[in-house]
Amino acid sequence: MPLAPGSALLVNPPSPRGVSVNREGFGGLGVVTPAGGFVYPAHSLAELQAALRRRRFDVEAKDLVLEPRARYSCEQNLIVVRVAHATLGADLAFAAQCSTRVPDAKLVVWGVGLEAVRPEVSRALPQALLHTGFDAEALAAAIVGDEVLDVELRPDADWRGLSLGPTQRLPLWHRRGCTHSCRWCPYVIATGRRIHGRSPARTALEFQRQVAAHRPKRVVIRDPVFGSDVSDALLLLSRIQHLSSNFRAPFEIETRPECLSEHLVDALAAAGCVEVKLGIETFEETALVAGERLLPGMSVADYRESVRAALARLKLRHLPVRVYLMRGLPHSTPRGDDATMAALGDMEEISVHPWRNPEADPEMSA
Ligand code: SF4
Repeated sequence: MPLAPGSALLVNPPSPRGVSVNREGFGGLGVVTPAGGFVYPAHSLAELQAALRRRRFDVEAKDLVLEPRARYSCEQNLIVVRVAHATLGADLAFAAQCSTRVPDAKLVVWGVGLEAVRPEVSRALPQALLHTGFDAEALAAAIVGDEVLDVELRPDADWRGLSLGPTQRLPLWHRRGCTHSCRWCPYVIATGRRIHGRSPARTALEFQRQVAAHRPKRVVIRDPVFGSDVSDALLLLSRIQHLSSNFRAPFEIETRPECLSEHLVDALAAAGCVEVKLGIETFEETALVAGERLLPGMSVADYRESVRAALARLKLRHLPVRVYLMRGLPHSTPRGDDATMAALGDMEEISVHPWRNPEADPEMSA
């Protein structure tokens, strides 16, 4: 039943005791770390706030992960609780509390990759609507029963009431998703192995307006494979480079090694990129082949060479790089994981993550 515009409370529930939950991480499936671990600001709630305000809702948005003591009222006629598979039990308990406090409000439970837990959510919260998927605009349209707005026409993410956290990093999307076939990847569960992009002009405009409004220390371009469409990426970087100084901020990107051509690295440096997060994952042949990580026609030797060349280009341009590896990938071995580490051993910034299989878990599906 569509809801008429009214007041809405959007909440990122607090981290469960003793841990930090980053519900924006791992493609939106959520990452749990020991307390104090890295957490992205609640970008999905900022997007939903924008989509609901455009529909004339009076919105209160709270990120109780970054601001656990934030106060919020409970008198709205719509409550949206952002949940993640990684903390689903605690998140549903929080949503139940909200519903008890405001029994007449429509309760929406929103997360990514939750289709298969629909029965569990229905049992725990029979009064709730479960919405699964990354697209805040689609959720807002479903709530009020109207059309999904074209991506070029959508408002910027609205950060009113939401914290950027102690690092003051502001996330931004340009091209969500990925069409590569790495079998271990959580991002494609969130986005369905499709690209959900917008024009360089539209993204540059949001970059400019968010920097002017929030003065972040850094903009984080969240695309999992920045530069997968190189001409599109070069257009965006050119627009950022030519923004006036009031509208510019240092930014970081993440990508895979094959995208880092000389041309792209030069453009990144010229536009103000200050960090490249580089997903290498492994050098182990059995894991690379079985995981379908290699591009068509590429050998393992080619892959290693693409990593070497990418790192050399970044170094030449003095662009800091953080490489990401995964231990425990299917068809990998501890010895192979150690060998990958050793091959990169002289690098300062290496993040190693134990692999968690999103698809093997029957509770995770698009
Ligand atoms: S390139 Fe990265 S984002 Fe794309 S499928 Fe592979 S791991 Fe996932």
